[in-house]
Amino acid sequence: MSGSMMQRPLLISDLIRHAATCHADTEIVSRETDGALTATTWAEVEDQSRRLLAGLRALGLGEGDRVATLAWNNHRHLKIWFGVSGGGMVCHTLNPRLAPQQFIFIVNDAADRAIFFDKTFMPLIVGTKEHLGSIEHFIFMGSRDEEVLAALPEALFFDDLVRSEPAEWPVLEETAPCSLCYTSGTTGNPKGVLYTNRSTLLHTFSIALPDALDLSAREVILPVVPMFHASAWGVPYAAAMVGARLVMPGPALDGDSLLALIDDQKVTLALGVPTIWMMLLAAAEASGSKMESLRRNVIGGSAAPPSMIATFRERYDCETIHAWGMTETSPLGTANQIKGKHLNLDADALALLRLGQGRPPFGIELRIVDEDGAALPHDGQAQGALQVRGHWVVARYFGKEESALSPDGWFDTGDVASIDADGYMTIRDRTKDIIKSGGEWISSVDLENIAVEHPGIALAAAIGARHPKWDERPVIVAVRAEGHDPDEEEIRALYEGRVARWQIPDAVIFTDAIELSATGKVLKNRLREQFGDVLLERGV
Ligand code: ADP
Repeated sequence: MSGSMMQRPLLISDLIRHAATCHADTEIVSRETDGALTATTWAEVEDQSRRLLAGLRALGLGEGDRVATLAWNNHRHLKIWFGVSGGGMVCHTLNPRLAPQQFIFIVNDAADRAIFFDKTFMPLIVGTKEHLGSIEHFIFMGSRDEEVLAALPEALFFDDLVRSEPAEWPVLEETAPCSLCYTSGTTGNPKGVLYTNRSTLLHTFSIALPDALDLSAREVILPVVPMFHASAWGVPYAAAMVGARLVMPGPALDGDSLLALIDDQKVTLALGVPTIWMMLLAAAEASGSKMESLRRNVIGGSAAPPSMIATFRERYDCETIHAWGMTETSPLGTANQIKGKHLNLDADALALLRLGQGRPPFGIELRIVDEDGAALPHDGQAQGALQVRGHWVVARYFGKEESALSPDGWFDTGDVASIDADGYMTIRDRTKDIIKSGGEWISSVDLENIAVEHPGIALAAAIGARHPKWDERPVIVAVRAEGHDPDEEEIRALYEGRVARWQIPDAVIFTDAIELSATGKVLKNRLREQFGDVLLERGV
């Protein structure tokens, strides 16, 4: 027997249709690549995305075709997202910070047929074009531009395509793919995750909930996290679902530019990785801005240092939602929101609870397992490999036949975590970054959090350096903050009484810069190559 309710597929086009119907005049403010600020509305985004869809169809593109973007967070990118995915094509967000070889690999692996690009990325396109064999259409995100035509005579222009008569949204299967994103691939080649309309819609409902990101039509949302980084954590879709005002930062991701956007546009919620917040906090400190409109920020992608969460709370009255996820999980897996029973906790206990990565929303299940795959208790103590399953978790990678899951259907995240009886998860480390000293594990995250508490440290990374007796010993690699000159012993002293004696780093190495990955994370393998022998060199 089946029920007797309407059976309507869950589609990306539903999101933008809803936004255009119920939030027609709500604004999307966007920083253009040339620095200008423009404003559009949800109604206009819908209209232009249907025109764009018609324009793409006229080029011969159809359902299932991959259409790539090489773009900042801006209004044209938003229109491409809805036009391409709503029209049954696959929107493939490319990360422009990848090395050209990886970029070429990804475009070919995805067999992208068209590519949209912002002006910033024209040199990358021109420089790699001869290797991008599958691309038939290069589409510049702007109006006709002689400079672009001189470098790329075959270029088409976004602003011409959206002059087409608007197409009607097609009715698709909800399991049809809508977008494609590759993992950062710090080891090996990147792998593609192909999201479906259904998985994306369910993820969108979920992230908007009060115990996740708590989104509504009353928010002004600034996604600093790029649309090419795990779909800007799903925020553009969710903003359409709830009818929020969006502020798209374009290429200007430095602290001063973000601060100006937050203050001028009265942003209430901003989202990004920890390195972004370091720059923003430094800019706010220098300018004296209190970021009064900013009530909440979401930190994810890497562990949010407790000192950063405390600064936002104490100096800016801004509540941090610490969230965890990965490309393979669409990406939201957990968010740190309290329960009713925590309302009476004192400030210190509450602050402690908010440090971890939080608990999964409905739709995501977590477990931790030991080296033999046996489930470990959720007691807040046991640490094991974090595995996940749910409605928006990858099953297999793009173009691969084999499953990405364990035989019993769980996805291994590559993270080491503990989970408590209330479902709160704390990431202890990435499996490959945890420091193994004399058979014991030391969390690099814990060590980094302590180092960055020092005002003289701008960025710190803990790695395991080779040691003749203990295999590995912890070493901190740190970048000094401008105008500060902390020394090694001063930093090592921070650890006294905070961690067990054997966990105190053996050395602190100062360096001018720490290389970050394409998604703004510390490249630990690079640091291990550079500094892995430092203890042996020091003759321990
Ligand atoms: P991204 O697109 O963010 O690089 P990846 O899928 O490459 O996505 O990275 C996901 C990984 O990032 C997770 O497995 C985890 O190691 C790390 N990560 C994400 N959020 C957090 C967090 N809040 N705390 C600690 N680590 C995190």
